[in-house]
Amino acid sequence: MAVSRAVVTLTLALPFGTVWAQTNANPQATDTPRACVHLGTECVPLTIETISVPYYHAPGQTTLVLEQGSGQRPTARSVNKLKALIIDGQNNHHWQETTPVLKKILEDSGLFVVTVATAPPGPDMSGFRPDFAAFDVVVSNYNGLPWPDATTAAFEKYVREGGGFVSYHASDNAFPDWPAYNEMIGVGGWGGRKNAQGIACGHHGNRLPFQVTIRDSDNPNARGLPAVWMHAPDELYDSLCGPAKDVDIVATAHSDPANKGTGENEPMLMTIRYGKGRVFHTTLGHDVAAMQSVDFIVTLQRGAEWAATGNVTQKVPADFPTPNQVSIRTLSASK
Ligand code: ZN
Repeated sequence: MAVSRAVVTLTLALPFGTVWAQTNANPQATDTPRACVHLGTECVPLTIETISVPYYHAPGQTTLVLEQGSGQRPTARSVNKLKALIIDGQNNHHWQETTPVLKKILEDSGLFVVTVATAPPGPDMSGFRPDFAAFDVVVSNYNGLPWPDATTAAFEKYVREGGGFVSYHASDNAFPDWPAYNEMIGVGGWGGRKNAQGIACGHHGNRLPFQVTIRDSDNPNARGLPAVWMHAPDELYDSLCGPAKDVDIVATAHSDPANKGTGENEPMLMTIRYGKGRVFHTTLGHDVAAMQSVDFIVTLQRGAEWAATGNVTQKVPADFPTPNQVSIRTLSASK
C-alpha cells in the first residue's frame, strides 16, 4: 500500500497549545489515516479526521506529518504531556469518589497524563513507595497513616529539588507530626494540631456557597481571574495553623460568624516555596458537588500546571463564576 504523506512545518510561539490539521490529503483512502505530530523524535498519533493535539515543548519548529494508508492502527498515546501522580488510599473523605474527578479535571486541561498511586489500607505501609521523581507534579488526596521513612525522605527530596506538589482539601489534615510536610503545606488543621494558645487548629461551618477573593493578583495562579467570585457549597476551612513559611496567600474567603465562622478572611488558595519546589495548596473541594464548581476545576488545573512548571498558560474560561452566581460543570469521571 502506497503511503501518501503531507508534511507541514509549524512555528510555535508558545510552549503550550493545540495543533489543528485536516487529514484530507487523500479522501479516497480506505485505511485508517495516521496522523502524527512529531515533537523531536516523539509522535502523537490520532485517527480522527480533524485532529487536535495538545502539546508541550520548547518554542520552535514542529513538524506535522499526515500519512494515509500506512496500515497501522494508531493507539492513543500521551507523549510530551506533564506527568501527574495522584496519591490516595486513606482519607476521612470519599477518596474513591473524588480521585476519579481529580483525574478527569487534570486530563481535561489537555496538559497532563495522570497516574494514581493508592496506598494500602494499613497498618502495614512498608510497601508504599511511589516513584515521586518520575512525575512533574504530585497531587495529594491522602489523609491517613504515616508513610514509611524511605517514602517520606523520597518525597521531601522530590519537592526540595524542584518537584511540584498540590495539596488538595483534607490532605492538609495529614501528617501533623511531619515537620517538612507542614512546611510544604504552610498551614494545616486537625490531626491534633494546636496553635500557640493550645487551641485545636482546623474547623469549618456548614457547607454553603461563599465568595472567594483574590489577594495577590500578581501570583501566576491569579492572573486573569476575577477579583471576587462565588464558590459552590463547600467547607470553608478556618483556624488552620502551621509554620506558614514562604506562603503566598492567593485567595481568601470570609468565615462568617453566622455560620460558626471566625469572622476572619481565611486562606483558600496558597502557594508555598519549599527548597526549589513549588506547592499549590487548595483548601476547597470537600466532595464531588464542590469539585464541580468551575472555580475549583480551573484553579486546580492552573495550580497543578504552576506546581509542575512554574507557569500558568491556561486561559480563564467563559463559564467561570461571577461575584454573585455559582457556576457548575458536571463532571462524569473517567475510569
Ligand atoms: Zn471536607
